[in-house]
Amino acid sequence: MSENREEKNKIKNSLSIDQVFNFVADLGGEPMMYGGYFVAQTICHNPPGEGSHKLFYYENTRLFKCFTECEGGAFDIFDLTTRVKQVMGEKRPLQDNNGEIIYRDWTLYDSIWFVAHYFGIPLENHREEGFSGLYMSLPDWDILKRYEDEEISEQRIEMNIYDNIIIQNYPRPHIEPWENEGIIYEVEQECGIAYDPCTLGVIIPHYDMFGRLIGIRERTLVKELEDYGKYRPAVLQGKMFNHPLGFNLYNLNNSKENIAATRKAIVYESEKSCLLHRSYFGKEGDVSVATCGSSFTMAQFKLLQGLGVEEIIIAFDRQWQQAGDEEFQRWTKKLESINDKYKKYVLISFIFDKNNLLRYKDSPIDQGPEKFIKLFKERITL
Ligand SMILES: [Zn+2]
Repeated sequence: MSENREEKNKIKNSLSIDQVFNFVADLGGEPMMYGGYFVAQTICHNPPGEGSHKLFYYENTRLFKCFTECEGGAFDIFDLTTRVKQVMGEKRPLQDNNGEIIYRDWTLYDSIWFVAHYFGIPLENHREEGFSGLYMSLPDWDILKRYEDEEISEQRIEMNIYDNIIIQNYPRPHIEPWENEGIIYEVEQECGIAYDPCTLGVIIPHYDMFGRLIGIRERTLVKELEDYGKYRPAVLQGKMFNHPLGFNLYNLNNSKENIAATRKAIVYESEKSCLLHRSYFGKEGDVSVATCGSSFTMAQFKLLQGLGVEEIIIAFDRQWQQAGDEEFQRWTKKLESINDKYKKYVLISFIFDKNNLLRYKDSPIDQGPEKFIKLFKERITL
C-alpha cells in the first residue's frame, strides 16, 4: 500500500500552488492567493457559493485544511475532489461490458483519474510504475480497466448546459486593451465576448464543439485583481459558471469545420490566443483551439481525433527565459511527454521559439502574424 501512496504523492507533489489554485477556482472555490497559501470557500462541505472562505491550502505541505465543519486533519487534492463531487452529488459515468453508460458514486479512484486528466498527467506511466494496486482493490476494477485500456472509448464527464440568455444582457463594448493587442471587435462579437461592469472583467463564454454554453470564464482587466488569478470562473448574478476545463477545447465550436477540412489543429493555451488567431487569419483560417491550461488532456485529444486530424500543432506559451535553464528543461520535458502520449495516433508538432522571436510567457501568436507564420513554418517534431 505504501508504494501506491508514493505514486499518488508523486502526482500531488508535481503540482504547483498556482495549478492547485486554478483547479480549486474551476471547482468553484473562489480562492484568494496569499504568500505560500491560498484560502478558498469551503467547497469541501458546501456547494460553491454557499460556504465561507475557511478552506486553506498550504504550499509547503500541499494539503488542505477546513476550519469550519470538516472533522479530522488535513487532506490532499484527491480527497478534496472526492468531497466536492459528493457534495455536488455527481456520479462517475462509466461504460459497462455492454457499452451502456452506468453511473457510480464518486470514489478516490475517480478523483485520481479526474486530477490526473485535468492536469494532463498520464496515468498509464504511473500504472507501469506500480500504481495499479490502487485500482485492483476496487470491485469494479474490470470495468475501469477495460474503460482505460480502450484508447478510443470516451472519457465522458457530464457538463452542465446553460442558457445563452445568461450572457445576452451583458454589454459588448470594445475591449480596448485586447484590441490594442490585435484582437478585432468583430471576433469579440463572434465569440460572444462581453463585459461585466461590476467586476471590471471580460466575460468569455465557453461552448462545447456543438455550440452549447457549458461554462463562462472571466479575465480581469484590473492588475491588482490578477493576484486572484488572471482567469477565473465567472460569477454572474450570484451563480458560478465553472466547468472542468480539461474536458473541452475552447473555440472548437468555431474551428471544427476548418480543422476537419485541413486535418490540422493548432492548440494554444489561452482563449485570447484563439481570438488573436481568428483576428489575424480570419474565419477561413481558424484552426485554433485552446486548452485553457498548460496541459493537453486525453479527453481534449479525442475531440480532435474525432475530427480526423493528422497533425496537432502544440503552440504553448514560451514558459522559459533562456535555452537550457531550469524552466526550459521542465517545459521541454512537458512537450516530450505530450509527444510520447499521442505520437502513436497522429503527428504531433511543436512551435518552438528557437530564434527568440517571443518574450517570456508569450503565446506564439502574441508578437503578430508575421512572427507567428515564421514560427509555424519552423515548427519541430520530436
Ligand atoms: Zn469543510
